[in-house]
Amino acid sequence: MIPYGKQCIDDADIQEVINVLKSDFITTGPKVDDFEKAVAEFTGAAYAVAVSNGTAALHAAVIAAGIQPGDEVIVTPISFVASANCIVYAGATPVFADVIEDSLLIDPEDVKRKITDKTKAIIAVDFAGQPCDYDTLQAIAAEHKLTLIADGAHSIGAEYHGRKAGTLADLTTFSFHPVKHITTGEGGMILTDNADFYQKMKYFRNHGITTDYRQRQEKGAWFYEMKSLGYNYRITDIQCALGISQLKKLPAWINKRQQIAKTYDKAFEQTDKIVPLKTAETSLNAYHLYVIKLVGIDREAAFNQLREKGIGVNVHYIPIHYQPFYRETFNTADGMCPVAEKCYQSILSLPLHPGLTDNEINYIIENVCQL
Ligand SMILES: *Cc1c(COP(=O)(O)O)cnc(C)c1O
Repeated sequence: MIPYGKQCIDDADIQEVINVLKSDFITTGPKVDDFEKAVAEFTGAAYAVAVSNGTAALHAAVIAAGIQPGDEVIVTPISFVASANCIVYAGATPVFADVIEDSLLIDPEDVKRKITDKTKAIIAVDFAGQPCDYDTLQAIAAEHKLTLIADGAHSIGAEYHGRKAGTLADLTTFSFHPVKHITTGEGGMILTDNADFYQKMKYFRNHGITTDYRQRQEKGAWFYEMKSLGYNYRITDIQCALGISQLKKLPAWINKRQQIAKTYDKAFEQTDKIVPLKTAETSLNAYHLYVIKLVGIDREAAFNQLREKGIGVNVHYIPIHYQPFYRETFNTADGMCPVAEKCYQSILSLPLHPGLTDNEINYIIENVCQL
């Protein structure tokens, strides 16, 4: 089966991990700082906090934004469940805003409609690798005093009006799960320009313990204070060494992903039955996923037919408000986000990762065109 996504690990990556295993620090050591600095520099953001996974990164972002029980946070339904779950972790209520039909990105017009006096934040998801319309979302956030969080699990390396993902919202989260652009096995990071958010998230990933060195010196080296409730969301030096090594290859990998997407785009121009998602001219898509909409083709049949041919197609995503947990806990229902619900019926993700060979790409195109 040709998988829809897959990590690329080479000998240089492996050697970096071995080096850490032979060193003094395997966690909470210098590689964590180095990885944070490298990703911050890559994106242009001022601060970065590395954590144990992308979901922990979202949780930290929501807590940094001060989200509390009783608050509402607006989020897209076309995402992985973690984008909404992080709101529930904070005791707040997710409110689903619909998406734009040709990109499946959150629709700023519907965000406006969903704002109430309880709304405190917006979580925008850079679905498939394309940044959302951040100029419009920032204007809405400013007008209503909301924090704008970007779930950038798909968009590291993407650009919007020449600015990189990681700098487009008040807080941006990345995931380093093996299907994402670069991997640390499991891992995540939050990028921000806000020093206050940065400090809060550093405490949050380590039980809420403040680790000011000078304070400890004054009161004795054994002394520490837990000033807020946090978690153990730390990432290891072993993982960060892998991340640093992977990051060096990211620009080339994004290039490869864009090339494959271009080949797919071109091949599907000849048929009206396959409609790829559209990328805005002012954006650079990092292409985590290549998503098509099927016109006049039954998605279930297409899915089975391609899987039988060894093509690991997938569906991203089942609208989050369709999930039984959300129906039972927040009374979400069919019809809340009609565009997302309609598009969900026809979407299919084709394999897309830098390890795909030309033969595999041609084989996929041939079979998709025969649907
Ligand atoms: C992968 C993903 C996450 C969660 O990241 P993990 O590292 O798996 O916890 C969150 N949001 C989106 C959109 C994702 O694709």
